[in-house]
Amino acid sequence: MFFFTLLGIMAGMDRLATGARKLGVQLTAGQLDAFDLYRRELQEWNRRMNLTAIDDDKGIQIRHFLDALSCLMAFRSHPMAETRLIDVGTGAGFPGLPLKIVCSDLQLTLLEATEKKVRFLKHLCERLELDNVTVLHGRAEELGQDPSHREQYDWALARAVAEMPVLCEYLLPLVRVGGTCLAQKGENAPAEVGQAERALALLGGRLARLVPIELHGLAETRYLVLVDKLAPTPVKYPRRTGVPSKRPLR
Ligand code: SAH
Repeated sequence: MFFFTLLGIMAGMDRLATGARKLGVQLTAGQLDAFDLYRRELQEWNRRMNLTAIDDDKGIQIRHFLDALSCLMAFRSHPMAETRLIDVGTGAGFPGLPLKIVCSDLQLTLLEATEKKVRFLKHLCERLELDNVTVLHGRAEELGQDPSHREQYDWALARAVAEMPVLCEYLLPLVRVGGTCLAQKGENAPAEVGQAERALALLGGRLARLVPIELHGLAETRYLVLVDKLAPTPVKYPRRTGVPSKRPLR
């Protein structure tokens, strides 16, 4: 076991392994290998098309992989096996795919509006041989009105997609009553949350917790914003594509 972990570390995932350990997560050799493959594929595709601004070894390990794994801090009190989770505006797979690598039982849906990113995600899921991952090309505004997705998820997650009032309109319609939305935010999270009060009230959500996260190798504090879904979202939400961001619910 130790030998294989060592191999993973030698493969260059040492920052990730250390950072995860500090979060209380011991990554296995197989998981470190999967992350290493993910890194290589991301770097290779990023040479040909713009998938992410962060593509150096250290940045990928800390700002992409470890940052995504910090969501595990929110899952701790919830059993995640068989959980239906959607990552909205996942880009190159963040935070959804790193979570799937660690929680193999997750039923993961990745939603992304840009076609080339969707192509990358499908390729990567094949390379990583992941089961129970659905990659969708589309917009949150459309999916939220689609009966096969509306209020179907236990969790809806997003990072770096929109400000809180807009994000609430993307995420809350997708979550079942009793489920949770998780937004990964930076240092202005407390202020942003204050601006989302009206959106939360209109959409059936309530702020549950703001969890500060310190990541190994990152100076700034990150935040997990957790919103519980208490009531069904009124049918008029989400509004048409583009409207939530043009006229945020403030
Ligand atoms: N979550 C990723 C990507 C952030 S960039 C990360 O943190 O690295 C934001 C992504 O959200 C882009 O890829 C964009 O295409 C997608 N996006 C923005 N609005 C969207 C919407 N309404 N529905 C689906 N995807 C959206």
